Amino acid sequence: MTSLTNPLVQVENLSKVYEGRRSLANRLTGVEPFSVRAVNDVSFHVDRGEILGLIGESGCGKSTLGRAVLRLHEPTAGRVLFDGTDVTALSAGALKDMRRRMQIVFQDPYASLNPRSTVADIVGLPLRLHGLAASRSEMRDQVVGILEKVGLNAAHLDRYPHQFSGGQRQRIGIARALISHPEFIVCDEPVSALDVSIQAQIIQLLLELKDEMGLTYLFISHDISVIGYLSNRVAVMYLGEIVEMGPASDVLARPRHPYTQSLMSAVPDVDAPGHHQRVRLTGDLPSPLDPPPGCKFHTRCPLATDACKHAAPVPEEVSPGHRVACHRLHENLSVLETASRAEGC
Ligand code: SF4
Repeated sequence: MTSLTNPLVQVENLSKVYEGRRSLANRLTGVEPFSVRAVNDVSFHVDRGEILGLIGESGCGKSTLGRAVLRLHEPTAGRVLFDGTDVTALSAGALKDMRRRMQIVFQDPYASLNPRSTVADIVGLPLRLHGLAASRSEMRDQVVGILEKVGLNAAHLDRYPHQFSGGQRQRIGIARALISHPEFIVCDEPVSALDVSIQAQIIQLLLELKDEMGLTYLFISHDISVIGYLSNRVAVMYLGEIVEMGPASDVLARPRHPYTQSLMSAVPDVDAPGHHQRVRLTGDLPSPLDPPPGCKFHTRCPLATDACKHAAPVPEEVSPGHRVACHRLHENLSVLETASRAEGC
């Protein structure tokens, strides 16, 4: 799981920068065009059959990274290899063919479904786009087949998205992603818009479908409990960069980066209720319009020193497959202990 043994997806030095346009008003007032580095020089791989969990706060670039991997957002630099093919170099036609094998489940099941289309048309669209059904009746049969896999049925074919609950709408979104028999799915916060009781059902469904259909997931979430439950490996993202990555059992049990440690401190300890100490980060995530120099986490890091303000740390391997980017890595410090000392505990 930790070594690059059988990668389906390899992401190499991927960056995504959004450049603002210089409007006439900006030119007249001398305002410079802005540039947002949403994803910065990110590298990782996802093995076949694996779930790589991608965790971080809202606005850290997780969703942009997921979409850049699929080329739904065009990467600015770097490349993505899917089953050995450089996706970033494909022509529009070749990319369309490749999309059959790489799909996405979106966060908001309502916004991602066309409100004027029936379930039959929404779920059948990939079959039409990729020419995967010879006739309308064959398309309907395939749509019914995938609806049954996700817990819906033929009675839902001619209904519209507004006639379903949030959980059912997400099942429709999953059916649409799976009907072309892809191998790789980017699950972009697929349960965060749902009630907690429904979240568990959708997570269980995704796990069952993964086994049944031989899928590989890049699973994006801001909820570390969800990531810990289903991931084989975990990548922790902060302001467009991966700061820690490794086997889930290692990263979550022994987080080495101060940011991961603070995320883990937010998870309640069921074995010691009432004795749980939480590290609350001060300040908001800095704007990617004006990221801090040096280590991007230094403005909120309880362990930051002057050196952290000037030089960006280089990721180091601390155990097989477990990499961390922090200048103070070898001091074996913990933000929990530092916070305790600061409070005089
Ligand atoms: Fe904190 Fe410095 Fe490590 Fe960044 S490099 S995480 S600021 S201790």
